[in-house]
Amino acid sequence: MDISIIVPLYNEEESLPELYAWIERVMKANNFTYEVIFVNDGSTDGSWRIIEDLSRQHGNVKGIKFRRNYGKSPALFCGFERAEGDVVITMDADLQDSPDEIPELYRMITKDGYDLVSGWKQKRYDPLSKTIPTKLFNATARAVSGIHNLHDFNCGLKAYRKEVVKNIEVYGEMHRYIPYLAKNAGFTRIGEKVVHHQARKYGKTKFGLNRFVNGYLDLITLWFLSTFGVKPMHIFGFLGSIMFVLGFIAVIVVGANKLYDMYHGNPYTLVTENPYFYLALTTMIMGTQLFLAGFIGELVARNSQERNNYQIEKEI
Ligand code: UDP
Ligand code: MG
Repeated sequence: MDISIIVPLYNEEESLPELYAWIERVMKANNFTYEVIFVNDGSTDGSWRIIEDLSRQHGNVKGIKFRRNYGKSPALFCGFERAEGDVVITMDADLQDSPDEIPELYRMITKDGYDLVSGWKQKRYDPLSKTIPTKLFNATARAVSGIHNLHDFNCGLKAYRKEVVKNIEVYGEMHRYIPYLAKNAGFTRIGEKVVHHQARKYGKTKFGLNRFVNGYLDLITLWFLSTFGVKPMHIFGFLGSIMFVLGFIAVIVVGANKLYDMYHGNPYTLVTENPYFYLALTTMIMGTQLFLAGFIGELVARNSQERNNYQIEKEI
């Protein structure tokens, strides 16, 4: 099979028939063998009934129905698990992404040798309240992930070599950082294609402004996990040591001051009147705490299932 198209959806009943017809038109025109996997993420409208109808009429339509709404990442994860095509395409259900882009995305994966190609909605049809924070978000994501050629991390329209989706694990709300996950798994040929974007035709957006707060927190988590996930002591131990050394220097300063006062006719000064005393106290306590966090982190990492999980590309 050439292509698996995965469509995560939450209450998108108006769009689905139109979306499927459009996909089918493009696929037929290009003679692709394909499947469309609709992942119904706990919709409360008639989406599932429409998916059932479509799958009755077309043998290549598959559906997964979550019992409740879990989120876009879990929906993609389940789609990825089941995908059989050589190239896997993800797209939103709301008709904002155009199926006309699929043939070129397919070509970039199969001919140009990309592992992952992300869409770039260069001209967006979304409200300003969304496009401006998005620019900031992408700049940060580029800097942290080191993937400097991507403008639009969170574009729903992406293409993957099958191997990629079988070897990364999307969870929580990590769908925003799939290119980063792929890069951490060793898939470094990551490309971009400018794609057409349209205003949402039916329904309304499923993500509010809290997407940016959560997005940043997830980015920090990912950075932390990919850098120190199996060696937490390297960060906590380092910070703890710096703190402890600072505290120790402060202790020496406090002691030296006290000795100086004692031998220069001021035997009754209190160390607690010396600001360095408080510096010594707090930094040494914080240093010890950081060290303990490092040890606990190591204990957790030692028991994590990821600790010996390596991406082996070939074996002979
Ligand atoms: N979606 C989903 N589960 C959710 C939220 C969204 O499957 O909990 C789907 C949604 O139906 C759409 C895609 O994810 O197909 C992108 O969502 P949306 O268009 O609301 O995001 P936006 O375009 O505003 O970023
Ligand atoms: Mg949308």
